[in-house]
Amino acid sequence: MTVRRNRKVKILATLGPASSEQEQIKGLFLAGADVFRINMSHSSHDMLRDYVKKIRAVEKEVGRPIGILADLQGPKLRLGRFADTKVKLINGARFTLDSSDEPGTISRVQLPHPEIFGSVKEGDILLLDDGKVRLRTISVAADAIHTEVVTGGDISDRKGISFPDSTLSFSALTPKDRSDLDAAVEAEVDWLALSFVQRPEDVAEVRKLSRGRTGILSKIEKPQAVECLKEIIELSDAIMVARGDLGVEMPLEKVPGAQKQITRAARQAGKPVVVATQMLESMITSPMPTRAEVSDVATAVFEGADAVMLSAESAAGDFPQEAVAMMDRVAQEVECDPYYGNIMYAQRAAPEATAADAISAATRQIAETLNLANIVCYTSSGTTGLRAARERPQTPIITMSPIIATARRLSLVWGLHCIVSEDAGTLDQMVDRACSKSYQEGFAKPGQRVIITAGVPLGTPGATNMLRIAFVGSDGLGGI
Ligand code: PGA
Ligand code: MN
Repeated sequence: MTVRRNRKVKILATLGPASSEQEQIKGLFLAGADVFRINMSHSSHDMLRDYVKKIRAVEKEVGRPIGILADLQGPKLRLGRFADTKVKLINGARFTLDSSDEPGTISRVQLPHPEIFGSVKEGDILLLDDGKVRLRTISVAADAIHTEVVTGGDISDRKGISFPDSTLSFSALTPKDRSDLDAAVEAEVDWLALSFVQRPEDVAEVRKLSRGRTGILSKIEKPQAVECLKEIIELSDAIMVARGDLGVEMPLEKVPGAQKQITRAARQAGKPVVVATQMLESMITSPMPTRAEVSDVATAVFEGADAVMLSAESAAGDFPQEAVAMMDRVAQEVECDPYYGNIMYAQRAAPEATAADAISAATRQIAETLNLANIVCYTSSGTTGLRAARERPQTPIITMSPIIATARRLSLVWGLHCIVSEDAGTLDQMVDRACSKSYQEGFAKPGQRVIITAGVPLGTPGATNMLRIAFVGSDGLGGI
């Protein structure tokens, strides 16, 4: 069985109670999921290891590399408890957050994160319970934030609180994140997602801790991160437009513009970008999505995002497989739309002044001009594969790497069909192998031509310096 996708954009599906069995994971893969996300907010280390084991078993069964992303919870801040479990805050009332662990009342509650007090200033907005209640800071003391209620409502024990205006001075990783990170690296996941990134240094810290053993994906879900987007992208291996929390931390109507800004900046840098959250939300309980949701998925595909993501739809919904299949259908349809090619063409990033970029750009142009069957890109670390995808060619791209971790990691990337293959010993072997894989995987028919890029001498990483056009012979091998 060879599985090849009939679309460029990838699908990232979150696993959870609705998709924790190996058969269910296989079902999601066959429906179109390319990468699986394990949400560490809801998974113990045993569950993590169990998911990884099952995904690797599916990988073996289907004979295709599958990416695994472990999503670290990050510093999600919560209030303390109330005497009567909840209170109703009235517009214009005063409300204080302090460090006392006395049960909360109508006028105060504990904020069990003492490191926060020093980072909040007069005028800063505080959001409770996903933004349902808004407070404005009037004054700050060493262990208390005094506020006025701007938008009142009910708040109850342990509700989330966010500080959209304040850059908080704590580290991006909680002790739980550190221990989850170690477990995820140990389990050999391919990607680590970092929640609530605020500064480039947050990314650098995770990179140090993961010791180069995983890719680092930064979730953009705070306005502070949008402000230093370029630097964060530079230090990250991938980016997520995390619209759930982004829509809490900034006015909801600003999220679509932020999505465009983040997607374009990531594409410009050649870093994979994932659009996430509520994409097919209604499919948690319904077999059919809304028109608006279909349109939202389509927009992300038209924007040239690398991947679209399912959260609760695949993790805890009633129709996980249907949700993946729906995304797959929408993506295929959009990518066949005449507007799609024009939009990709108009948004293409210019090549940087490197051999890899010059060759990627030339490869795309030759492949499109000569209507070649596919591109074959030898890449050991994956960098050349990323640069080939950055060109967003119409022609399908096969990446060949001897390293399975590279193939798995690249499975998140737009348009890449990743194959694990030993390095070729000679140029002839390299051409033969490229042709036979193109044939076997269903991309090229005998008599068609493919274009191959590689680094010579063979096997030197980071040295893409040649391209070659080859015929697929009648035996599926390289012809004249
Ligand atoms: P979460 O991240 O699902 O882990 O909160 C995604 C988002 O905030 O959109
Ligand atoms: Mn989030």
